[in-house]
Amino acid sequence: MIAEKKTTVALPVMEHFYTLQGEGYHQGKAAYFIRLGGCDVGCVWCDVKESWDAEKHPKYGINSLVKEVKKTPAGIVVITGGEPLMHNLDELTTALKKAGLQTNIETSGAHPLSGTWDWICLSPKKFKAPLPEVVPYANELKVVIFNKSDFEWAEKYAAQVSSSCKLFLSPEWDKKEVVTPWMIDYIKANPKWELSLQIHKYINVP
Ligand code: SF4
Repeated sequence: MIAEKKTTVALPVMEHFYTLQGEGYHQGKAAYFIRLGGCDVGCVWCDVKESWDAEKHPKYGINSLVKEVKKTPAGIVVITGGEPLMHNLDELTTALKKAGLQTNIETSGAHPLSGTWDWICLSPKKFKAPLPEVVPYANELKVVIFNKSDFEWAEKYAAQVSSSCKLFLSPEWDKKEVVTPWMIDYIKANPKWELSLQIHKYINVP
């Protein structure tokens, strides 16, 4: 028996914009961001709390989103949130790929994986852990460092991702002065990790 899939006619979109990817493996590349509304992960340090309530954001049809992206020369689309996997993303990614676009996602992995992805950035959160079945699909693991116990959390997931997965540590923005020196020492001692800074915040782009 085939499980019935919820079809996605429209998705709540908090914002969408063309910018440079500021973090992780694709840092510095031009990319079109679609920030979907809705998140139940509840990170205390979340910098997009206004995304949490999906009802507060207008719904966009799949075709209108693709049209918005195609107004730009973007080749990469990043689906982020909120927690984008709270929505079934099969139709959106099918349409984006049909339009010749690379599909990247940034997710906590706390909800089942849907969609067809060229790049999955998994950012596991202690507030709602990733589903074990999502973890092996990560192309990139990005762990936010807020306190020293987050290094242990990072290693827990580094042990579960595939051997080709890229490993990044990212300082929580408001604590970056405190945590970045810890991270430099940690990465020097554990060179499988790389530092990811939110460069979009330094160059003042969204
Ligand atoms: S998963 Fe992302 S959007 Fe959700 S609370 Fe955490 S940081 Fe905020």
